[in-house]
Amino acid sequence: MKITIFGSGYVGLVTGTCLADVGHDVMCVDVDEDKIARLNNGEVPIYEPGLEPMLKQNMEAGRLQFTTDAAKAVKYGKLQFIAVGTPPDEDGSADLKYVLKVAETIATHMDEYKIIVDKSTVPVGTADKVSATVRATLKERGADIDFDVCSNPEFLKEGAAVEDFSKGARIIVGTDAEPVKKAMRECYAPYNRNREKLMFMDVRSAELTKYAANAMLATKISFMNEVANLAENLGADIEQVRHGIGSDPRIGYHFIYPGCGYGGSCFPKDVQALARTAGNVGYDAELLNAVEAVNKRQKGKLFQKLSQAFDGDLKGKTIALWGLAFKPNTDDMREAPSRTLMEALWEAGAKVQAYDPEAATECRRIYGERNDLVITEKRDDTLEGADALVICTEWKMFRAIDFDHLKQKLSTPVIVDGRNLFDPETVKSAGFLYYAMGRGDSL
Ligand code: NAD
Repeated sequence: MKITIFGSGYVGLVTGTCLADVGHDVMCVDVDEDKIARLNNGEVPIYEPGLEPMLKQNMEAGRLQFTTDAAKAVKYGKLQFIAVGTPPDEDGSADLKYVLKVAETIATHMDEYKIIVDKSTVPVGTADKVSATVRATLKERGADIDFDVCSNPEFLKEGAAVEDFSKGARIIVGTDAEPVKKAMRECYAPYNRNREKLMFMDVRSAELTKYAANAMLATKISFMNEVANLAENLGADIEQVRHGIGSDPRIGYHFIYPGCGYGGSCFPKDVQALARTAGNVGYDAELLNAVEAVNKRQKGKLFQKLSQAFDGDLKGKTIALWGLAFKPNTDDMREAPSRTLMEALWEAGAKVQAYDPEAATECRRIYGERNDLVITEKRDDTLEGADALVICTEWKMFRAIDFDHLKQKLSTPVIVDGRNLFDPETVKSAGFLYYAMGRGDSL
């Protein structure tokens, strides 16, 4: 099948590469000229395990192309995927300007029947807005061309995006149109050999499914963080509580890790956007608002704990920070807890020495050169002259550490662990003040 994909970010790039890898012919189009130039040189602008070799292989095989030429891209595919960003608007609702711009572009250049596939995460009712935009643009052109719009939300997670796209739990398609069902069946046939993953439903339900999934996951995290904070105040250990509740199959062990708050490009904005969508139809989404508020509070916890360790005086202190990305196996720092922490530390007059295996470039891009930020090439270089260590991201390489070496390096034996990576007794017996999440103030 010939497929066009608008947007070569995390979702568009992974979708395009994976669809090419199963044999489709894919043209990816983006407005970012620099990004497309790099991709055309075989350079992958994001870090995503497994993506780079797959991308190069499919480019060499001639199945995957990149362009900034929207007219050429619209002519190319029968399926026109929209995978551009939907950032939060000023009030937290999803900003549809990029999605609707693409709809207009498709309508401007199409000269035969096209199926427009909303892959971006978009509020309920967006497919209707995309249809209206296409219709209006076609009318302006005086063109009478048939088209359909369907919803096909993406559930991949950054850090495991290729794996998730290829082996995801479900493929949701929102449409009532038979030609769309037929084309989407053909598109996803390589992933649907047992015919159980592809689920057709009405467009609005498909759009809501994406938000409901992210809101449920974010709720689990905020719930555990709420209980972790309670555990701290009550002298209980959240890790023991986690094991205790996870053993109930109705609850399960997945996604119930307490921590320093969720980040990334999806959960924060999608929870907010769903709450605003609810507001628009006169429904007060109390639970969603609470999920958001708990998360916001949780992101401030690392700073609070550090502040507590230094009696509220962090001025002139140097803090070693392990992990900048919002989670392991990605370079994405959007809404990362590390940002909340760094910004609070700078405000308090402290200096940060940070290490992340993948997000260093992204961090430099966001914050530029500053005297109070050093990004090191190696994990342990952050410890030189540092007063305390904070862990923000649970990268594997942070899990096993030599506490004696660490103690020699830090001027005060303070570890603030935003991901509960260590056994408190081990850390305590090595002579540290250990501040974890929901495991007592200082163990
Ligand atoms: P991104 O910011 O990484 O990429 C978006 C890309 O779209 C950029 O490269 C941008 O230049 C391009 N773009 C903007 N306007 C364009 C236009 N008119 N024509 C062509 N390209 C254009 O975004 P992302 O993380 O890939 O997210 C895309 C969508 O998918 C969002 O709605 C997001 O919520 C959703 N989503 C993201 C994830 C994730 O983990 N990142 C997972 C599932 C769903």
